[in-house]
Amino acid sequence: MPAPLIGLTTYRMQSRLGFPVFALAEAYVQAVNHAGAAPVLIPLGLSSTDLQAILSRLDGILFTGGGDIHPRQFAAPLDDLSKDIDEDRDSLEMDLLQSAVRSRLPFLGICRGLQLVNVGLGGTLYTDILAQHDQAIKHNYYPDWPRDHLAHPVQLAETSRIAGILGQGPLLVNSLHHQGVQTLAPGLSPTAYAPDGIIEAVELQEYPFGLAVQWHPEWLQAHDPMKALFRAFVQACSSG
Ligand code: MN
Repeated sequence: MPAPLIGLTTYRMQSRLGFPVFALAEAYVQAVNHAGAAPVLIPLGLSSTDLQAILSRLDGILFTGGGDIHPRQFAAPLDDLSKDIDEDRDSLEMDLLQSAVRSRLPFLGICRGLQLVNVGLGGTLYTDILAQHDQAIKHNYYPDWPRDHLAHPVQLAETSRIAGILGQGPLLVNSLHHQGVQTLAPGLSPTAYAPDGIIEAVELQEYPFGLAVQWHPEWLQAHDPMKALFRAFVQACSSG
């Protein structure tokens, strides 16, 4: 069996010389690759037809982190709390998610990826947790902390798939987000919570492998449970 192909979504940035490039932190690519899959980077700006051509060859998809989703995607007004919006990325990832779910393709969402999955399936977001959620703890440990800084604990739902992967013990995670789930989409189960009640992991019910986490396991690959998360994803992609 050849290694499964896992598509990873990318974002736009400016190169040092000032021209536009598609980019992705190497940590995602390495984590997927070390877990036994062949990573495929998905550029932005593709037609839906070309996107389908790529998707039809993939065994799984990783919705990566990045800037904020435009609030219009969950019928909320644009406020000045939302940062780094790229509506082209929003619509491409929404398209990918809908198609992936239709064909029951395994997916993993990370940070923005969790938010994307929630919004794409009908949920809404806090556009800023600290401004909008009572008794919020600090979740935005960026840009001045190491990406692997263990910021807060999460409580896992005992019978969840993610608890089966990560183990039952107390788990500390990094936290590089300022947005979070406000109302959960139908079909998603909340499977991890931060101490302030913010949802830190979700799973799509009745689905082969549809899981998303609010933290960044790709920066925590020195921790066995976070390696196990990528291995479990790759295994689900291998058995399709
Ligand atoms: Mn957090």
